[in-house]
Amino acid sequence: MKSCILVINCGSSSLKFALIDPVSQQEVLSGLAEKLGMAGSQITFKHGPTPRRSFRQPGEKDVSPLEGGNHAAAMDAIIARLKDEDLLDSVKAVGHRVVHGGEVFKSTVVIDDSVLAEIEKCSKLAPLHNPANLLGIRTAMQQFADLPQVAVFDTSFHQTMPEHAYLYAVPMSLYREHGVRRYGFHGTSYRYITSKAAELLGKPLEETAFVCAHLGNGASATAIKGGKSVDTTMGLTPLEGSVMGTRSGDIDPGIIGYLGSELNLSVAGVMDVLNKKSGLLGLSELSSDCRELQEAASAGNEAAKLALDIFSYRLAKHIAALTVGLGRLDALLLTGGIGENSAYVRANVINRLGFLGLKLDDDANAACTRGKVGRITTEESLPALVISTDEEMMIAMDTAKLAGLAA
Ligand code: AMP
Repeated sequence: MKSCILVINCGSSSLKFALIDPVSQQEVLSGLAEKLGMAGSQITFKHGPTPRRSFRQPGEKDVSPLEGGNHAAAMDAIIARLKDEDLLDSVKAVGHRVVHGGEVFKSTVVIDDSVLAEIEKCSKLAPLHNPANLLGIRTAMQQFADLPQVAVFDTSFHQTMPEHAYLYAVPMSLYREHGVRRYGFHGTSYRYITSKAAELLGKPLEETAFVCAHLGNGASATAIKGGKSVDTTMGLTPLEGSVMGTRSGDIDPGIIGYLGSELNLSVAGVMDVLNKKSGLLGLSELSSDCRELQEAASAGNEAAKLALDIFSYRLAKHIAALTVGLGRLDALLLTGGIGENSAYVRANVINRLGFLGLKLDDDANAACTRGKVGRITTEESLPALVISTDEEMMIAMDTAKLAGLAA
């Protein structure tokens, strides 16, 4: 019997899981429970190595309605499935994704009562995410009471940033008393892709200097020197930085007060506009989805094209700015749904960065899609690499290590 890690990524209305053998680094079973707490909740299972996002692709689903429709029901269904398939005894530890670990969590930890209390305290910094993550942890602790439970934080990777990168120019008392600073996100993904890139380039991670962009519905970019984050675009919350699917990214903070008085909106009302109605969706007035916008742009929709141009220009600007924190650049790394699949956006970004020594290889760029990864710049150019991220695998590897399982 294999020794496996159950990885849980719990959102407010979804629960994604993966059963991973950390020795072979293979996914044995994975699944996604969706629409939790709403009508029509369902759970999807998939065997074997799963390309990311395949749950939403037609033709690959083993879907059933989820009786009860909440997080506990999802966990019950996962356990029942593991039992049915004789896999339950293979689970030796549970690894949880936790979005915000504040300044307390600088690395992955085994969960105990004091860790739970600290994650709870960090909820005010991530009110949409941490409570859902805690729900997943508490449910798993009930169902797998005898197993070690481990928390892997999106923020902890960025705890290596120097003060000059993480402090905002606001009164220091706001930092000291209220924790107002840049935290950064997508850290688990950055850790995974930087070690893969070092392998691909045949360089020790400690000797690398990368700018990495994780481009999905949320998008950020990070400067990583010697495997350590030195600066990143997301801030106190995941709203700062690049243009995203529905999030504005950087704006003049004066806009918040201006909209409040012009539109008679509360702060919560303005934040709702910036988080849910802005970004690609707000600019295109069509969709937050990059693929849909590309299709519309190629059919002549000017607003869709402009939205993608703004997304790409702003990202290129951030990539160039982040090199200041590195002092040099060895490679640009791209990941996430857009980074891994959109040759259009990649070209639009890299063609603006010739002055950094990046020159796109159009054929290689066109070939990198649907899980195909590799170098997309010419031989004379500084490398730009497309790398498929795997946050679940990273969580499984961390959990195996802390649970004392060979990995
Ligand atoms: P993620 O949050 O990492 O799942 O990424 C979601 C984003 O990736 C959405 O904007 C998708 O439109 C985009 N995406 C996925 N596949 C493609 C594709 N083949 N071409 C362009 N964008 C894509």
